[in-house]
Amino acid sequence: MSDLQSSSAAARPVRNVVDYELLFDCVHCGLCLEACPTYILTRREMDSPRGRIYLIKALAEGRVDLDRDVVRHLDLCLGCRGCETACPSGVHYGRLIEGARAYVEANHPRSLYDRAQRWVISAIFPYPERLRRLLWPVQLLENVGARALVERALPGKLGAWLSLLPPLNSAQDNHPAAPWPTAKPRADGPPVIVHRGCVAQVLTNAENRNTERLLEAAGYKVIPMARTHCCGALDLHLGNVEQSSRLIRANVRELKQSGAEAIVSAGSGCSAAMAEYGTLLANDPELKSDAQSVSSKVSDLSRLLLESGLSFPKFPCTVTYHDACHLRHGLGVRDEPRKLLSSIPGLRLVEMQESDLCCGSAGSYNLTESAMAADLARRKAENIIATGADYVVLSNPGCELQITAELRRRGAGTKVIHLADFLALAMRG
Ligand code: SF4
Ligand code: SF4
Repeated sequence: MSDLQSSSAAARPVRNVVDYELLFDCVHCGLCLEACPTYILTRREMDSPRGRIYLIKALAEGRVDLDRDVVRHLDLCLGCRGCETACPSGVHYGRLIEGARAYVEANHPRSLYDRAQRWVISAIFPYPERLRRLLWPVQLLENVGARALVERALPGKLGAWLSLLPPLNSAQDNHPAAPWPTAKPRADGPPVIVHRGCVAQVLTNAENRNTERLLEAAGYKVIPMARTHCCGALDLHLGNVEQSSRLIRANVRELKQSGAEAIVSAGSGCSAAMAEYGTLLANDPELKSDAQSVSSKVSDLSRLLLESGLSFPKFPCTVTYHDACHLRHGLGVRDEPRKLLSSIPGLRLVEMQESDLCCGSAGSYNLTESAMAADLARRKAENIIATGADYVVLSNPGCELQITAELRRRGAGTKVIHLADFLALAMRG
């Protein structure tokens, strides 16, 4: 999809929905195959990036119909963009699959069950107040000590969905939000906005608060956002072009007024989505230049803290780092978090195998494709446990929930923690 002007994918040929010219960048070399989680697990060409590009091109040229098999191969893609990093030809796979998804959603009749779960994700998750209300019964169960029992008793995917949630009772919240002694925020520091996300505001808001505190400790001036809208990524990845377009436009309008020089999110999926706003609104006469300006300001906590030279007290422990897909493959951030962690006196950083292979979280993928997501979570957990680390540090709340649930299932002692929370712990010594 070249931009969000293509708001109605129904009744339009796929050739006009997917950015057809981009398909020709692929030279079918296959160098991306071993970077693709679904290919690694299935060994099926049609579940590889090259196979999916072939399918999308065949669709665009009218050589295959949009049948259930084609939809299945496209649905199974995590949208992790590991193939983009591996591709020597610079194929923009993320844009291709998002376009294909918009076409699928507009033209393929889904089962009632599929439609229901997609509706829940799209109508509730991007809106923190709705999500809070939905979670209220879970909190009640937790307060009376019955949550684990209900998790085990629920049929189908429901129990698995519930097990992904962190403890909702704040007394059990293991995210350190307590402040540490720090310099007073500088009123004249470079202005930065922390985009608080949607689900993250409800489930992992301490990460937002710690991100802000760390930036203030590093000399930045944190500007509050008047109103935070979901970044639009959840809907974009589900192919809901119209709702994602609405949310993206609302964010661009909000962010352009802020005067921020940098935009940061504790959710790397949100950061990567905002970095694409310029491309997504490229043909919007009203918001095109504002969207490009927003995208150019997107940064990452690790980058800003490294640039500031922030130092940490001694914090002896062993840490391994998991690369969240959209941070690594969308924003190209790989070394910065590692350098930051290595700068902490007493900390030992050990690399895990396949640190940049998707954990299966992938936005709402672990809800819609739970079997593949569970296989990937198991593989990730094994690689983490093999390091013997005390902590696995990561930069995305979705990965945190997914990996925590799997390690908890195994009774593993490795603590899963967001980079912002970990650095806050380190600051407190
Ligand atoms: S986005 Fe991820 S799952 Fe999809 S084809 Fe690329 S590497 Fe494979
Ligand atoms: S996407 Fe890139 S790496 Fe994969 S087959 Fe095409 S050109 Fe080769």
